[in-house]
Amino acid sequence: MTAVLTAGECVAPLARVSGSDLRVPLVQGGDRTYVNFDCAASAPALSQVTDRIEALLPTYSSVHRGAGYASRVSTDCYEKARESVARFVGAGDEQVVVFTRNTTDSLNLLAGCVPGSTVVLDIEHHANLLPWKNSRVVRAADTLAETVRLLVAELCSRPSALLAVTGASNVTGEVLPIAALAEVAHRCGARILVDAAQLAPHRRIDLEAWGVDYLAFSGHKLYAPFGAGVLVGRRDWLDDAEPYLAGGGAVRNVTVESAQWVSAPAPEWASAPARHEAGTPNVLGAAALAAACDALSDLDFDRVAEHEAVLRSRILDGLESVDGLEFLRLWSDAPDTVGIVTFTIDGFEPGEIAAYLSAEHGIGVRDGRFCAHPLLERLGRPDGAVRVSLGLGSCSEDVDRLVDAVRTLVGGNRTWIYAKEGGQWNPVPERRFLLDAQR
Ligand code: PLP
Repeated sequence: MTAVLTAGECVAPLARVSGSDLRVPLVQGGDRTYVNFDCAASAPALSQVTDRIEALLPTYSSVHRGAGYASRVSTDCYEKARESVARFVGAGDEQVVVFTRNTTDSLNLLAGCVPGSTVVLDIEHHANLLPWKNSRVVRAADTLAETVRLLVAELCSRPSALLAVTGASNVTGEVLPIAALAEVAHRCGARILVDAAQLAPHRRIDLEAWGVDYLAFSGHKLYAPFGAGVLVGRRDWLDDAEPYLAGGGAVRNVTVESAQWVSAPAPEWASAPARHEAGTPNVLGAAALAAACDALSDLDFDRVAEHEAVLRSRILDGLESVDGLEFLRLWSDAPDTVGIVTFTIDGFEPGEIAAYLSAEHGIGVRDGRFCAHPLLERLGRPDGAVRVSLGLGSCSEDVDRLVDAVRTLVGGNRTWIYAKEGGQWNPVPERRFLLDAQR
């Protein structure tokens, strides 16, 4: 692992991730080392994660029902992965770790267990807006303090089972005051779910200390891209609900009668987590996620926060005076922001900027509405924006390349032509070839 901050202005990557030396073709010819500024979408694998998967592959086998040695090892690894996740988030004794596919899956699972209505903010990612069947949406105000006041008013106005809130905005990176919101939810007789898809890779989580009842996040955003996510939470709602998926593993005993349980007593379902994990589990995904949790804990979140704060300030300072460029933010009083910078530039479509950064500079960013259409609308950007998201592998050299590239664009010095076709911006002509993924 490399040092966090080196002498002078230079900021090195904080950890080794896959793809850090990837060379990508440029449209004008030649190639450059890829700059991955799209970590909020999916983060590259940490080296500890890929090492762990490689070490596990020889004993990769069926989980839970096999007597063979490899099967025992895989089962042990799967169950120990729960312990790593529980430690990583500071789970209490009454909280269980359920493995899912991703945050969306976790939130849909919980939505089937909530015994009442759910209160959400209008700033949420669609994954935390759409699953709640009986929801009340509160419009966020211009300050965080006023937003919290509006949430309290809504939560206490009628019986509410759950407050479902993001830990950090996937559009602006602003962090919400989770412990304070947990206190508010409980005072109004509700529980709290935190969508930690964007918080978990950046900040230490402590469910017990914060009083959080449920938490969801995705492995692929936590440097563990092997298809697993988690829902961590209080057992009672999970045990009272019908299984998320019905099938093998979620049930203790099945008879022909109970298999026709619409017209007969239901089968004897297992308790959580098995109740909601029917089918063969994703043991490598769970192990990867656990390896990422362990590696991030070892790394120390104070260093993670410092690393991204320095790089984020460097982007803000570098772009602040660019003509027509505006940063997106929600609140003037947000106390903390994770490594995300989102902006628009007058006279350029977001997709055009992203296509240019990729084609001429080998820089990957995200453009669009980030699965948060109501938020983009309220920020006055219904056509989207450009999001730069930092990760553990980011460094000051990457930031300087981005700032130079944006300045070149706005200065009228791009070298290629771009056109929008079928809603997507592309360089014309497109001279780059796609690397053969089968190599
Ligand atoms: N919540 C937030 C805040 C997100 O940023 C995302 C993905 O970008 C999700 C939920 C959905 O995550 P996934 O696609 O891994 O289910």
